[in-house]
Amino acid sequence: MAETSYLNAKDVNEAVDLLSSYHHKAKIIAGGTDLMVSFNRGGQLPEALIYIGDINLNYINQDEENLVIGSTTTLSDLLKSGIIKEHAGILGEAIKNMASVAVRNSGTIGGNICNASPAADTAVPLLALGASLILISKSGERVIDCEKFFVGPGETVLTSDEILKEIIIPKKVNIKWAYKKLGRRLADTLSVASSGVTMQIENGKCKDVRIVLGAVAPIPLVSNNAAKILEDKVLDTLAIEASASAASEETKPIDDARSTAWYRKRVSKALVKSLLNQIAGEGDE
Ligand SMILES: Cc1cc2nc3c(=O)[nH]c(=O)nc-3n(C[C@H](O)[C@H](O)[C@H](O)COP(=O)(O)OP(=O)(O)OC[C@H]3O[C@@H](n4cnc5c(N)ncnc54)[C@H](O)[C@@H]3O)c2cc1C
Repeated sequence: MAETSYLNAKDVNEAVDLLSSYHHKAKIIAGGTDLMVSFNRGGQLPEALIYIGDINLNYINQDEENLVIGSTTTLSDLLKSGIIKEHAGILGEAIKNMASVAVRNSGTIGGNICNASPAADTAVPLLALGASLILISKSGERVIDCEKFFVGPGETVLTSDEILKEIIIPKKVNIKWAYKKLGRRLADTLSVASSGVTMQIENGKCKDVRIVLGAVAPIPLVSNNAAKILEDKVLDTLAIEASASAASEETKPIDDARSTAWYRKRVSKALVKSLLNQIAGEGDE
């Protein structure tokens, strides 16, 4: 069996140079909490693993308009961050419900997104927050809306010579949010279904509504139909019912070891309904 080289890149430029020099035959490794599991289950080893934990992408910064998160920031660092608590509470809430302390100490936000599981727990809040992603290769950087990043289970728009460099989250004033994850148990479990909602409420009406569901479609699902129903409307019982039904209709769930498609479709409606009721209960301020 051919051996796999383990290469420790010292900065972003070296990481993308190495990736390009291996022409599809290398893989990025960050925390390794997804990748090592897949190798242990018989996943094909690449010619080289390029470790990116030392390339200085572990940061959470902010300017007036945005939060900027380096892709190798660990889930634990995000959970501890005051910036995340203040401006992206929904992301912190999702991470609090992810995995265990040990996995969160190694696992990175970039790895969670790039692994592209339909149940990736940071994808739901990032989509709800309207995040965008900065991808970098030897030929430069490009920015992509997080909504356009996921292509299918385990598939993204990343080309074989690109890495995810940063996640950009726009700061929004008076943002209302709610998040819930359903698993087979309360802790250290993958999602059966999850949902995140963000919106602003101006003069009693919903604005900039984003409704996202995880683990109920081939990719994390942004339910535009459900959001449209609420835009410029009062968040009352009828609107909530209609929006939650629309969200459930948009799901394309599957049966797997964790749940059934039948249950996931039904619970999607219940999840969205309970999140919208939660926001409605908080009132205007
Ligand atoms: C016991 C256990 C429990 C878990 N629980 C949860 C859970 O509750 N919710 C959940 O969502 N996940 C869970 N996971 C999955 C995993 O921990 C997370 O997805 C984690 O965030 C992955 O990050 P990582 O740095 O370890 O990724 P890695 O394993 O290093 O990489 C994952 C994939 O992303 C690619 N990659 C990594 N970083 C980059 C980058 N910057 N640019 C391009 N490609 C990149 C790698 O090539 C690989 O294909 C769990 C895993 C375990 C083992």
